Amino acid sequence: MKGIALGTIVIDEDYTIVDFNEPVQKLIPAMAKNAKCYQALLGKDKPCSFCPVLRKEDCVVDVEQNNMESVVTIPLAGHKKQYVLTFLINAGRHEPSLNCLKFNLHASCITEPDKSEAAADYDLDQATGVYNMQAFIGRAQKLLDDNPHDSFNLIISDIKNFQLITATYGEAKAQALLRDVAQLTKECYTDGVVARYGVDQIVSLYKTPSLDTKIQISNRFNEYLQQTEIPNVIIKFGIYEDVDRGISVTHMCSKALLALNTIINDFRRIFAKYDDSTSQKQLKAQTYEAQFNDALANEEFVIWYQPKFNPYTEKIVGAEALVRWQTAKGIISPGEFLPVFESDGLIARLDSYVFQHVCAQQRKWLDDGQGLIPISVNVSRCSLFVHDIVERYKAIIDEYDLDPKYVPIEITESVALENLKIKPIADAFANQGFQLHMDDFGSGRSSLNGLNVLHFEAVKLDKSLIDFIGYKNGELVLSYTMALGKELGVQLVAEGVETASQLLFLKHNGCDIIQGFYYSKPLPVAEFEALLQAHGTANLKEELNQMLTNCAASSEPDTLYSHMPGGFFSYEAFGDEKILASNSYLWEMFGFDNEEDFMEHVHGSFKGIVSPEELDQVEESIAQQIKDHYREMDFVKYHIVRKDGTKVPVVDYGHLAHQDGKDIFYVFLYEEENQKQQ
Ligand code: C2E
Ligand code: MG
Ligand code: MG
Repeated sequence: MKGIALGTIVIDEDYTIVDFNEPVQKLIPAMAKNAKCYQALLGKDKPCSFCPVLRKEDCVVDVEQNNMESVVTIPLAGHKKQYVLTFLINAGRHEPSLNCLKFNLHASCITEPDKSEAAADYDLDQATGVYNMQAFIGRAQKLLDDNPHDSFNLIISDIKNFQLITATYGEAKAQALLRDVAQLTKECYTDGVVARYGVDQIVSLYKTPSLDTKIQISNRFNEYLQQTEIPNVIIKFGIYEDVDRGISVTHMCSKALLALNTIINDFRRIFAKYDDSTSQKQLKAQTYEAQFNDALANEEFVIWYQPKFNPYTEKIVGAEALVRWQTAKGIISPGEFLPVFESDGLIARLDSYVFQHVCAQQRKWLDDGQGLIPISVNVSRCSLFVHDIVERYKAIIDEYDLDPKYVPIEITESVALENLKIKPIADAFANQGFQLHMDDFGSGRSSLNGLNVLHFEAVKLDKSLIDFIGYKNGELVLSYTMALGKELGVQLVAEGVETASQLLFLKHNGCDIIQGFYYSKPLPVAEFEALLQAHGTANLKEELNQMLTNCAASSEPDTLYSHMPGGFFSYEAFGDEKILASNSYLWEMFGFDNEEDFMEHVHGSFKGIVSPEELDQVEESIAQQIKDHYREMDFVKYHIVRKDGTKVPVVDYGHLAHQDGKDIFYVFLYEEENQKQQ
């Protein structure tokens, strides 16, 4: 029973023990999986009133209300003595994906301590060598009482992704890391009290240091992090400064923890101080969580669309779906509610809702006879790890009978550590025909390494990179990044483009797609549709339809083909590839002055247009391009054979349209040397 490290027990909604670790086993040898926890732990025949399972929804509330400890004094099953059981509810979390509650159990003897048996040892956490929580509470209180006139701070440090580190690098290395952090903390706060808190956190209470000391401590942590065996370790700190002596030590911990929780998913921040607004924020988060189900059911989450432009043609080539929360009090932006839903796992349901709504919208546009452009959706990293996400998304795609390439998926990925975990999921998405776009590239959340390990169709250059435009070094970084992206063959999308000079720079460096306020803010669907109408998409089919309409209105329908600049023809794709219509420029390119002779020369088929030895290659190239591109377009070069047998190099721009159940190619054909003038 000496020096027990923190035990962890996972309990499901039925109070059944799903799992537990070694310290628990040591404490309660009779502990068994599948046993009811109240029986195994306490020898009781029904759940206890303090059980967090009963109140999993308000675990955080309890912390705030200083019920964090849930201390009970009871005889443990199989033990004669009385023990204090402390449920550190905050250190445990409800895990929606498992439908389980995971919490930590800390037990210590409250009968008269056995002085002869190295009592100090008993107070220590075996794994880290610093105090355990029970000892901390007493010693921290004593430190405060012994120094009534000093100001004290309480800090909780948290090793980010500790579970992932354990899974990736093994228990031993992860525990060594935790021990190092604990010992380093102890060395930094020699006059303080340091303890292990939760699974991967260290708490300490210490006299408020001078600025110099703070800088020294910060430097020591930085130095340590630079030389850890495990790469990219991040430690976050929640600080409660100048603690209020009127509250209990556990309450002080909960305040530092609240501060910590506000930055746990914010990649930009390492420190957070507790102030009164922290509780307000936490309260807001709880309100959002409480309202989530109703908001989802009432379709309060609406989707806005931010168009993406081809900067060279200034046509809309796609859009990004961005969620907004439409409440009675107004619209809430994702920056406010997403971090809350990301930290509690609700985001997975929201992401899938957004995905489904975007698919439904695409289906509607398709049914209305509009050409589709890809609308990308964001999938948060938490959603990615939801069991069977790929199958679910594919099922939605199938339900709406869409091609997955019309709903690309934007993901951000952070440290290299996660790439290994994301890879199988990313591969599974790709295998189902989805396209992946790396979001927020250059923001610090995404890494070059991600490009190496995962296959992305597009990379979205983050606004923070775009904001460098105008600064020499920043421009250098950006242009090299873009060159690298080009080398890797990914499409470059610039995000957050606001000014003409940014646009100019990006065009100059070959950026493929622009998304930003310069062209348009995210728009509600009706406004987005209006913009599409006004601005036009790069959909050649629509342009052709427009031309057809114009020509029909001009009372001379035949003029359509004759008004096309250069050679133009249409043919039914696949099968015998029958030419449907052609214009006089085309006949002339072949040396004919009438359609009949021209058709005879080419056997009325596209196959007759291409010089025979190039035909296979050309058809293969067209098929590949149609498969690879968003727009069903191709660009090929080949030779045609004129009436007199001479071969002429030509350039072919083709567009595949699906009309009235038929697949029709519309092709512009230019002689290569004339192409530039065209
Ligand atoms: P994001 O995916 O990087 O989306 C781009 C964000 O940049 C959008 O913010 C957009 O409004 C903003 N933006 C675009 N152009 C400009 C510009 O020129 N200037 C400025 N200042 N901002 C620009 P928004 O809509 O507030 O979304 C913020 C983030 O929330 C998104 O960043 C995305 O990560 C997340 N998000 C939005 N919808 C969803 C969703 O359905 N699921 C998930 N998981 N995340 C979402
Ligand atoms: Mg995005
Ligand atoms: Mg982004």
